[in-house]
Amino acid sequence: MRQKLIVGNWKMHGSQRLVKELIQGVDAGTEELSDNVEIVVSPTLLHLGLASDICKAGRIKLAAQNLHNEPQGAFTGEVSAPMLAEYGVSYIIVGHSERREIFDESDQLVAAKFMAAQSSGLTPILCLGESLEQREQGASEKVVIKQLAAVIEAAGISALQNAVVAYEPIWAIGTGKTASPEQAQSIHQVLREYIAGQDVETAASIRILYGGSVKAANAVELFNQADIDGGLVGGASLEAKEFISICKSADS
Ligand code: PEP
Repeated sequence: MRQKLIVGNWKMHGSQRLVKELIQGVDAGTEELSDNVEIVVSPTLLHLGLASDICKAGRIKLAAQNLHNEPQGAFTGEVSAPMLAEYGVSYIIVGHSERREIFDESDQLVAAKFMAAQSSGLTPILCLGESLEQREQGASEKVVIKQLAAVIEAAGISALQNAVVAYEPIWAIGTGKTASPEQAQSIHQVLREYIAGQDVETAASIRILYGGSVKAANAVELFNQADIDGGLVGGASLEAKEFISICKSADS
């Protein structure tokens, strides 16, 4: 059975106070949960050091929201995978639609970041997702497969053994509009079958998360789908009570 994974993406939110309160609150509220659920939070890069110190006492792991694809160099304002590894980060979100859209990250750059994360022993969480226009054109499957194929082409299928995929339809991110459990399951199944076409074992073991307005009220139904292994949670991860409840929904 694949262990469920819940990742809170805090985006550019938070303060030192919020970091302490949220991590300590979520830790206390999820104490009773079984090992069937892994819990990860992703504060801003600036807050990772503080978060790392607080996380040492509990079960919560850390993800970074971004990295540069080179290990070091003259890249003002950037941070690299080896630097993040020093802060006890376990996961790195790559290819989030906000980075693809606002910061113009191409499939090739996403693949380079994916590989950079792995070369420092970190697990990339590879985000894939279609826009509303693409969904209305019936192109959802084609879009997510193309995004996934770009990483497989660059890194090889075996690289997915140490990776997580997150299906995040852009039209559902931060909009309050969630994909229905059936819509999400159908894309997750397509992704898993595509991976199975190249490596059956990896397809069976890789965790595919759903992201897009996940909240306590819709988490159970989503996480009950056969190919949904947890959630990448934005807005709702900034409220301890709501996030705890989402984590509990994954513990079955
Ligand atoms: C996200 O940012 O990855 C996300 C899914 O956000 P939200 O849950 O707010 O839609």
